[in-house]
Amino acid sequence: MAMATRLPSHLPYLRAVVSGDCEILHDAQATSFRTYLARWSDIDLQTPGAIVLPRSEEDCVKIVQWATRLSIPFVPRSGGRSRWSTIGREGIILDLSHYAGVRVDAERQTATLIGGVRTKEVGRRLAESGLFTALGNGNSVGAIPYFLNGGNSITSALIGYGADQILSARIVTAAGELIEVSEENHPDLLFALRGAGQFFGLVTQLTIRAHPLSLLRKQQGLVWIGGFVFPLTRAAEVVTVAKQIADDPEHLTVGLAMIIKPPPNRIPSIIISVRYLGDEDPELVFKALHELEPVAKMGSDVPIQDAGDINDALGAEGGFKRLGQVGLRDFNTEGFMQSIRIWEKLVDECPDAINSSFNLMWSSRPVKPPAWDSAMAVHDIRFWQFNIIWHTDPQNREKVDAYNDECIAFVRGPDESQYIDFQNATRSGPIQYRYPGEARLAKLRELKEEWDPQGVFTGQLLD
Ligand SMILES: Cc1cc2nc3c(=O)[nH]c(=O)nc-3n(C[C@H](O)[C@H](O)[C@H](O)COP(=O)(O)OP(=O)(O)OC[C@H]3O[C@@H](n4cnc5c(N)ncnc54)[C@H](O)[C@@H]3O)c2cc1C
Repeated sequence: MAMATRLPSHLPYLRAVVSGDCEILHDAQATSFRTYLARWSDIDLQTPGAIVLPRSEEDCVKIVQWATRLSIPFVPRSGGRSRWSTIGREGIILDLSHYAGVRVDAERQTATLIGGVRTKEVGRRLAESGLFTALGNGNSVGAIPYFLNGGNSITSALIGYGADQILSARIVTAAGELIEVSEENHPDLLFALRGAGQFFGLVTQLTIRAHPLSLLRKQQGLVWIGGFVFPLTRAAEVVTVAKQIADDPEHLTVGLAMIIKPPPNRIPSIIISVRYLGDEDPELVFKALHELEPVAKMGSDVPIQDAGDINDALGAEGGFKRLGQVGLRDFNTEGFMQSIRIWEKLVDECPDAINSSFNLMWSSRPVKPPAWDSAMAVHDIRFWQFNIIWHTDPQNREKVDAYNDECIAFVRGPDESQYIDFQNATRSGPIQYRYPGEARLAKLRELKEEWDPQGVFTGQLLD
């Protein structure tokens, strides 16, 4: 509590060191404050002492220096699409909304992401130069955090994870120093940034690899997006066919078997939602699903940079939302059927959770591994339990989480040593790095001790 009273007296000093165009919002009732406070999820949303919005890298450095010198806790915010860019009255949010952009180098096939730029903007700008990179399904997700802490995408089997695209970075360290990180400078820190980056500093700029659009469908940068809807009562036969598609590496498919009540009718359904990156006729690739005679089906070719557009409703701000994503060793049919029963209890007992879905995600081919070792360590995982939790009644908070936990616990079984979390969705402590070995975790702990012993950038990886 002592901290809470300290912060206001230090804001004038911050005002004096940053540029005039750096906004400092501290009136929690003001509309602008509420606007920048809004997050994708209201779970555990706190109100900070101030929201600071720099417009330059120099101001980012000055804010970190000010905060660390005075021991004022802070948390960076890019897209606000996680549950972690929140802090109480004792601290500030360093909001990168006004310091954002992307520079594409078409010749080198790289892009430099600046501050709070969103993934949609990165995809759009790369496509203008005939390029694409690993980008996720949420247009409004902050691109830098997406890359730093994993970065799964529908193109992972072709080019690797988001973390595997990272070439270099400019970061402000916990000591308040702006440094360049690359293969030449601080390669150990590059190892950490590629998968655990949010725990090592404020990344002001990130340079990533891009790839020609001609690698994608019809050599035209396309992906075929389709959906097949069935009543949930047919789950057993539908999931058997989905498993065959998921286990067929001949065709590069990425898919979700979704347990969901879709609008407008809200009838409990199983939707097989697919992305196909190959050149063949999707009618043939998904023939077995067509033959099951779904109650509805849809599909079309979409430019890769627009592939996330259908998820815009999920990406919107507000409501109690969280993603539960854990790796699985195989297409766990038994787990899927059991998750139907848990999901039914969830939506029956918590009608406000009608938008929640329990999903099994697959890639028919493994993720392309990078040529280097890094903090990203789940390239051989092709299957994920991917639950989308979304509800509105605060009274049901605990109950909804309990059903999600029950589902996750069932699908991954009792052996904790085999647990595989996905950093971008779940932050469950160091356990996320247990797989595939203690050596990687030990190295990260050592690096954390060296670069951020006080836990300025979270206490993750500190004992
Ligand atoms: C609709 C939706 C779709 C998604 N789809 C995918 C997907 O397809 N694949 C995937 O891998 N993930 C996906 N995610 C997860 C997403 O990548 C992560 O939650 C990501 O961390 C969100 O970043 P953000 O900038 O939007 O969030 P923020 O809350 O702003 O930031 C996330 C974390 O990074 C820290 N941070 C922010 N900026 C910086 C910085 N510059 N330097 C250091 N740390 C920083 C924050 O303090 C916080 O801890 C999705 C999320 C949503 C909501």
